Amino acid sequence: MTAPLLEVRGLAKRFGGFVALEGIDLDVTPGERLGLIGPNGSGKSTLVNCVCGTLHNETGTVRFAGEVLDGLPAHRRTHMGLARSFQLPRPFTSLTVADNLRVPLLYTVRRRSLLISSPAELDERCLDLLRQVGLDGKARRRPSDLTQVEMRKLELARAMAAEPKLLIADEAMAGLSHSEIEDIIALLMRLNAQGITIIMIEHIMRAVMRFSQRLAVLVSGRKVADGRPEDVVNNPDVVRAYLGQ
Ligand code: ADP
Ligand code: MG
Repeated sequence: MTAPLLEVRGLAKRFGGFVALEGIDLDVTPGERLGLIGPNGSGKSTLVNCVCGTLHNETGTVRFAGEVLDGLPAHRRTHMGLARSFQLPRPFTSLTVADNLRVPLLYTVRRRSLLISSPAELDERCLDLLRQVGLDGKARRRPSDLTQVEMRKLELARAMAAEPKLLIADEAMAGLSHSEIEDIIALLMRLNAQGITIIMIEHIMRAVMRFSQRLAVLVSGRKVADGRPEDVVNNPDVVRAYLGQ
């Protein structure tokens, strides 16, 4: 068996007296495409926040690439190869689309002491990322000029700039049209084919089923199912708590 890239054990998170997550165990294998589903408020984003260090879990352990992450700040986790896109895109509104990628690129490059120090090489990396997400024509625009799907692509490209091993896409398709959803699936599939492990959090079941090799389901802060997508969507608990709504 391959060692998991991400290993969550017994994770719990409370907000005051409210238990948002309890007893969460989750493994993600290198190269895997995992779908994470569940009703609104079931704790999906909170789990991502605990894994990525935006929030700190009181109980349990998160390991990434064999290292214990507990207590590490978010930027250290990004350094280690963990990246996420936010459910609500958070671009730097005063910067151009290209500069929104240059900032995380410079950060990544500097950290790894890579030899890409010339502005020309940075531009090339930036253009390459823009091309990957189909935003090369919008490099000089501001995020406010982008359509909703372009904004989502920029959000994913910003996460990609950190050259992650694991990318967590938190509802990257909400509000998009059928063809725009296909676009994002194709983009995530390409990234996965390049070796990036991906967790997709999504309500659009057609997209989740197309994308996922495995599905995990959260309901009220607990994991109620984890397995082959076709088994999970036929699991009576999952149907009752989520799909049957
Ligand atoms: P999901 O992403 O599955 O829709 P969330 O993880 O965003 O769910 O939220 C899970 C629960 O935790 C919800 O009841 C939400 O209101 C609560 N919650 C999330 N973040 C906070 C916070 N920072 N403070 C207090 N409660 C929160
Ligand atoms: Mg959420």
